[in-house]
Order: sequence, then structure tokens, then C-alpha cells
Amino acid sequence: MSILSLASGQSAYRGYEYFQNKKVLRVEPCGDTSYHGTVSGSNGAQYDVTIDLSHPRKSQCTCPHAAGRRIICKHMVALYLTVFPEEAAQYIAEVEAYWNEQEQAQEQLEDRLLHRVHRMKKSELQTALLDLLFTGPEWQVERFLDSYGDFYEE
Ligand SMILES: [Zn+2]
Repeated sequence: MSILSLASGQSAYRGYEYFQNKKVLRVEPCGDTSYHGTVSGSNGAQYDVTIDLSHPRKSQCTCPHAAGRRIICKHMVALYLTVFPEEAAQYIAEVEAYWNEQEQAQEQLEDRLLHRVHRMKKSELQTALLDLLFTGPEWQVERFLDSYGDFYEE
């Protein structure tokens, strides 16, 4: 498992942004499979980061999120991507492919819903709407009443 695949989705993406924004101030090899460097944090702090490629869980960072814990933080990811920029290119290509897939799936779903709703009769629409309101979450009812008014009270 690599540093990148062990990081949470959030840490991986934030680490990529740190890499892109050149937050890695310096990096140098230390030992056969480790790199040590300094990464600038969001609040002006600087963190000492060591990544261990053969034992990623032994990587270390002085940031509050990772200090003393066996997690992969965004600073480690940023350092890793600085050492292996081709991994960064592959990572962002995969993320964008995933986003495109999600977007396409969303568009297909919207098309299906539009297609279906436009072919329903008024009575069918009323039944479907009441069913959604009676069985759905409470916020849905509140939103409906906010948008269309509560004529019962008048
Ligand atoms: Zn960190």
C-alpha cells in the first residue's frame, strides 16, 4: 500500500492541493526508502514530515492531526507527490474521471425523473407527492410548506 492509497479521500485531495500550491518547502531523501522535508501549514506553521515508503504507517508529521498517531495526513501526501509528481498526475486524472462519472450518473437520473414526471397524470402526481410527503423526512414537509404555503390555517 502506498502513502496515497492509505490516506483518507479528504487527506489525499488536500495533500494534492498542497502539492499543487507548492506548500512543500523542501524535501530530501533520508535512508533508502524515506524522505524528510518541511511542509507549510494553513496557519503559517511549518511541519516536519518524514515519509517511509516501505512502511507508510511509520511516516511521521508534527501537525496536530498526525502527531503521535499512525495516520497519513495531507502533509505526508504533499511530500510524497513532490517526490513522485507522476503519481500526482495519475491521481488527479483518476479523481476527475470519478467526478465525470458521478456527474453523468446524476444527469441520467435527472433525465429519467423528468421523463417520468412529464408523463404522469394530475391524479398520479398528487398521489406520488402525498406519498413522498407522508413517508419522507420531516424537512421535506417543512420545505414543501415553506415553498407552497399552508392553506389549511387560512
Ligand atoms: Zn501533517
